[in-house]
Amino acid sequence: MLQLPTYDDVLAAATRLQGTAHRTPVLRSATADRLLGAQLFFKCENFQRMGAFKFRGAFNALSKFDAAQRRAGVMTFSSGNHAQAVALSAKLLGIPATILMPQDAPQAKVDATRGYGGEVVLYDRYTQDREALARDLADRRGLTVIPPYDHPDVIAGQGTAAKELLEETGALDVVLTPLGGGGLLGGTALAVRALAPAARVYGVEPEAGNDGQQSMRKGEIVHIETPKTIADGAQTQHLGQYTFGIIRRDVDDVLTATDSQLVEAMRFFAERMKIIAEPTGCLAFAAACHAGLDLKGKRVGIVISGGNVDLARFAQLAAG
Ligand SMILES: *Cc1c(COP(=O)(O)O)cnc(C)c1O
Repeated sequence: MLQLPTYDDVLAAATRLQGTAHRTPVLRSATADRLLGAQLFFKCENFQRMGAFKFRGAFNALSKFDAAQRRAGVMTFSSGNHAQAVALSAKLLGIPATILMPQDAPQAKVDATRGYGGEVVLYDRYTQDREALARDLADRRGLTVIPPYDHPDVIAGQGTAAKELLEETGALDVVLTPLGGGGLLGGTALAVRALAPAARVYGVEPEAGNDGQQSMRKGEIVHIETPKTIADGAQTQHLGQYTFGIIRRDVDDVLTATDSQLVEAMRFFAERMKIIAEPTGCLAFAAACHAGLDLKGKRVGIVISGGNVDLARFAQLAAG
């Protein structure tokens, strides 16, 4: 039996993050409220360190390393926000970090990870088996692997964002978060069930990759091909054992948003709220606008999960 993390683990994570992670702002928009006939509270993790909530989970996980683990170092495989979150957390804690990235990862992401002091090991994703390579490297160097979502300490860390949101807003009727592998949604659900038990909790994934929605309906983890979507932070192929365990128990449903709905939300954030959100960070608001939920008169929490999109790409998407 898996030991799922609990709200106590979220509380412990909040203590570890205190003074290191930003307590990100909760912003309001009268225009958004008017459009949806609801009171919306936007938790802005695009303003978190390294630009996404992933710093919370990574820093929490690395803070729990014992002396031997700290000396040997941490490893992860990711080309996205988790790589930068691990690299920055490791630097702050004085832990060596090895990050396995595909050779064709965007140069900006490789540079950002190196900039935080991580050692980037490149591999060929067409000829080399990432898992085997990771296991071999970890074994040889004695590294501790921290995966991007399916780890109790990562989930507990991600839950601290919703804890802060609810501490600030008081009870909410609905909470929506983006969904990739489920670390953010799992942690959010732990916090909501503890602090606002009556609230409905929804995860939102790209329509092109609705494995989470299928998993909820089927009652087991469904695997899919890597989906084609502009939401690059949610191109996961399946939920994890821990994240699915929490989501099936504590989450009301999984909704989807199309790429064009994400672009519309991105434009709204930029124009109306002066916020740069990456496409994945727009999932929750896009679903609030389009997924057919009855939000009239409700108090609704919306997590904007990250803001890491390069400016040229942003301009291209915004121009349509
Ligand atoms: C990783 C990520 C997600 C998805 O988070 P999971 O914990 O994998 O569900 C959403 N938004 C952004 C910006 C991310 O980096």
